[in-house]
This record gives sequence, structure tokens and C-alpha cells, in this order.
Amino acid sequence: MTYPAGTAYIEGRFVPMSEAKISVLDWGFLHSDATYDVVHVWKGRFFRLDVHVERFLRSAERLHLTLPVSPQRLAGILAECVTRSGFEDAYVEMVLTRGVSPTFSRDPRDAHNQLICFAIPFGWILKPEQREAGLSVVLSDIRRIPPDSVDPTVKNYHWLDFVMGLYDAYDRGAQSAVLTDAQGNLAEGPGFNIFTVRQGRIATPARGVLRGVTRQTAIELATERGFPLDERVVSAAEALAADEVFVTSTAGGIMPVTRINANPVGDGRMGPITRALLETYWAKHEDASWSTAVEAALAAGPAP
Ligand code: PLP
Repeated sequence: MTYPAGTAYIEGRFVPMSEAKISVLDWGFLHSDATYDVVHVWKGRFFRLDVHVERFLRSAERLHLTLPVSPQRLAGILAECVTRSGFEDAYVEMVLTRGVSPTFSRDPRDAHNQLICFAIPFGWILKPEQREAGLSVVLSDIRRIPPDSVDPTVKNYHWLDFVMGLYDAYDRGAQSAVLTDAQGNLAEGPGFNIFTVRQGRIATPARGVLRGVTRQTAIELATERGFPLDERVVSAAEALAADEVFVTSTAGGIMPVTRINANPVGDGRMGPITRALLETYWAKHEDASWSTAVEAALAAGPAP
């Protein structure tokens, strides 16, 4: 078995990725009982680390999970995973699992919550060299798990709907899938939020989705650039009739969708609003009010 390069923090120690293992009795593994967050590092700087850590803390609280370290120390651990790996660009994940109950009791309150962090090479839903071609997606018939069952605003590993959506996409010759809700309106895809643009107006689903940090960033950038944007119900038909469609994720930023169900979106090329947002998004990675140097996070969160 080979593993990606990188460094993990598990059971209070830093180890190579190949040694980062959890017990099969961890509720995180047995029941997807965990929350997580992913922040990326680009050219030695975390992008919006504070926003990711805040979301992670909120998710943990919602699931009755307790973070065993302070938020500053968490940031320090993430930074140390990156520096030990020697990466300039990295995909950095923090995970809090319910953990193992020493008696294998069925009461989640008996389990010891476990923090795991890791840095691996930067991961892309759509690589920069694929940007001009754009992403091809299908609107899958598979419904997103209803938000009243599993709260999508708490970042979670309930991914079977997404994984089946991906197989649906591969069967239909596409790269990824967008799932809809019980009413057939757009929800989100495996690891990304979706936006449509019609006659210069941007729209993105308001509920039933993760409040993605890149989604929030795209909304802020649209405001900054003066593009009107609505958070509302977005029908699947709107995606099919859109001039532009793009998706947002920490795993790649703002990425154009150029084919839906094998049909071109607009003229089949990246549209001007997507391009403007994408360029501003990457420019913000060097702006100190949106990003934190890895060394600064390391210095601010030393081991106690
Ligand atoms: N939606 C889902 C279901 C996700 O898993 C993710 C990221 O992994 C996103 C949206 C995008 O969120 P972010 O922009 O915070 O990476």
C-alpha cells in the first residue's frame, strides 16, 4: 500500500501519512460520526484559516463533539503538518471523530473524541490546466440527503449520495455530478457548491447545502465586483438554461462548468463573470487580510 506524501497529527503525535491510522472501533469509521474541515495553503499561506476553524468549531458543537485543543493550537497543529511536509501548496484537513468507547458501549457520550489533522499535496476538482475546457457535470437523479435528516451545514462524511452521483456521472461520460433536493432544485455536488449566471445575475442555492467557505468568498467577491447575486431556490432548469455555471470548493477554488448533461453551458466556454471571479479569487491569496502565512499560524499556536 502506498500513501500520499504528507504529515498527519494523530493521538497527539506527528507522523508520516502512512502511519496515520484510526481504530476500526472509532464511531467515525463505523457510523460516519465525525465532522471535518478542509483549508488550503497556496504559496505558503493559508486561505481564510480563521473562517475554516470557526466553521469547524461550530460543527463540532452542533454534534456534541469536544475539541481537545484551543483554536490557536489547532491552527498551530495544522501549520506544523504543513511545515513538516515541506509543502508550498497543500490540502489541509482537520477531523474530529466521536472516537472509541473503551467498553464498546452504544452510548456516544462514552466515546473519547479524537482530533486528527493532516497535510497532503493540493487536491483539485478541476486542475488549472483543465480550467479553459471546464468541468462536465450531470444533474443526477440521486437526491441529496434531506437537510432535516443530516444537516449539510455541518461538514460531514455522509457521502454515499455523492459517490453514487459520481458513478452516475462516469456512466454518462461526465466528470462530476450535481445532486438535487426532494423538489428537484439544485443542491450541491461532491465537494462543491454551485452557482448559475443568467443575464449578468448570479444565483446560488440558499439552503440544503454546506455554507462553503469558497461559496461565501465568491459571494463577497461578486459584491466587491458589483455583480448582482441572489441566494435562493435555484431550479435544475435554470442550470440548463444558464449563460454560465461555476462551482466553488477549497479543492480548486472557483471552477467553470462548461457542460451539463452533455450539453454546452452558454457557448461552451468559461464565461466572463466566472473568469473575473476566478481571477480575483486567486489574487486574494496574497492579500494579508484574506490569508495567513503558515509560519505565523505556527508561531501563534505552539504546543502547550
Ligand atoms: N459542499 C460539500 C458537500 C463539500 O463537501 C464541500 C467541500 O468539501 C463544499 C460544498 C465546498 O466547501 P468549501 O468551499 O468550504 O471547500
